Amino acid sequence: LDVIRAVEPRVADAIGAEIEDQRAQLKLIASENYASPAVLLTMGNWFSDKYAEGTVGRRFYAGCRNVDTVEALAAEHARELFGAAHAYVQPHSGIDANLVAFWSVLAQRVESPALERAKVRHVNDLTEQDWAALRRELGDQRMLGMALDAGGHLTHGFRPNISGKMFDQRSYGTDPATGLLDYTALRETAREFRPLILVAGYSAYPRLVNFRIMREIADEVGATLMVDMAHFAGLVAGKVLTGDFDPVPHANIVTTTTHKSLRGPRGGMVLCDAELAEHVDRGCPMVLGGPLPHVMAAKAVALAEARRPDFRDYAQRIVDNASALAEGLLRRGASLVTGGTDNHLVLADVSGYGLTGRQAEAALLDAGIVTNRNSVPQDPNGAWYTSGVRIGTPALTTRGLGVREMDEIAGLIDTVLANTRPGTTANGAASKASHVLDASVADQVAGRSADL
Ligand code: PLP
Repeated sequence: LDVIRAVEPRVADAIGAEIEDQRAQLKLIASENYASPAVLLTMGNWFSDKYAEGTVGRRFYAGCRNVDTVEALAAEHARELFGAAHAYVQPHSGIDANLVAFWSVLAQRVESPALERAKVRHVNDLTEQDWAALRRELGDQRMLGMALDAGGHLTHGFRPNISGKMFDQRSYGTDPATGLLDYTALRETAREFRPLILVAGYSAYPRLVNFRIMREIADEVGATLMVDMAHFAGLVAGKVLTGDFDPVPHANIVTTTTHKSLRGPRGGMVLCDAELAEHVDRGCPMVLGGPLPHVMAAKAVALAEARRPDFRDYAQRIVDNASALAEGLLRRGASLVTGGTDNHLVLADVSGYGLTGRQAEAALLDAGIVTNRNSVPQDPNGAWYTSGVRIGTPALTTRGLGVREMDEIAGLIDTVLANTRPGTTANGAASKASHVLDASVADQVAGRSADL
């Protein structure tokens, strides 16, 4: 830190403070983790200075032999780990990986001169006319993805996201009575809508998805099945999700982030069948700029870690911990969407405590417990205030916490929420944003959070 402090002390201080926070707080954000020192060190070196547009052995820059080595290694580890025909490890993030996948499916399945032009430009450089031509020629291609309030992700066709603008989009939800995916309703929607792409995968669904059934539905309506496994990639890598619940054998194309349950560097990745490989490999320059060699190197290291036998044990413990947390919360009277969990996350409906998700998130943070507010299905409080809190176990499992600690943490969460009430606005009305948490409860729980 002294090297950084000599240049910009405020950044050094912020890094120090972040390390302190991450030590003292209980990190229960379902999409976060702790990458290993090997992964972190691989990112902080001179690889970050290198330009390497193109792909392995076909670069637009000289001097890329070492980048070729790490990109090829990361792809090889990814193929071996997930049993995929092809892996593309350049995407800078999950959103980028999804954009590469969307454009690859369009390039594979739709004839369009405007698309050919778009492939050689960055997406940010496309003009209004380019978009108009694309829409005309692509004929409003259809995408069917999981609704945001059912647990889907922004990039699965949500209107404010580019996926919702690129495609004529429709979404599928969950059964209002059970909160579970309703495959019969989904099949009916798919039959009627006939999407080009059926997107499966989620950010906040606490159960498993049957990808065999998803593929059956996709095949029946002539759709390409794309699975975004960003959240549960670590569970697939660790062989906790197998058979019908492993997306790789069933999907035409699979995208993921590398930094969530997979515990690698921040980044994205695409796995696909042989037919899509040539399109996916054009991710740069079709959608992406130059790849990040230091991050691809770190992906290779993280994927090598995930191929080790102890990663299977880690993945199983993530799920065991999430179950223990869910049981602990239920026993204390909390309400959970779908009544529990089968994966790495729990979605608690905090309206029974008289709170919005935003108030619960803030109160928990006061007590050293870091979560994020999240919509519940048909959320009356919308996507900003929400009625839910999403709680995930990948990070604390990395720290070695087990089922006994999860039960205690469920107790801490319940104590905080039970001792929090909504604040009031300036004119005395009940607020959806502010909260009041008894200071002694906050201190007591924060102390215990730091000790754990
Ligand atoms: N896909 C899913 C299912 C996600 O949950 C997320 C991130 O939360 C993303 C994609 C986007 O990943 P990134 O933030 O790396 O763009």
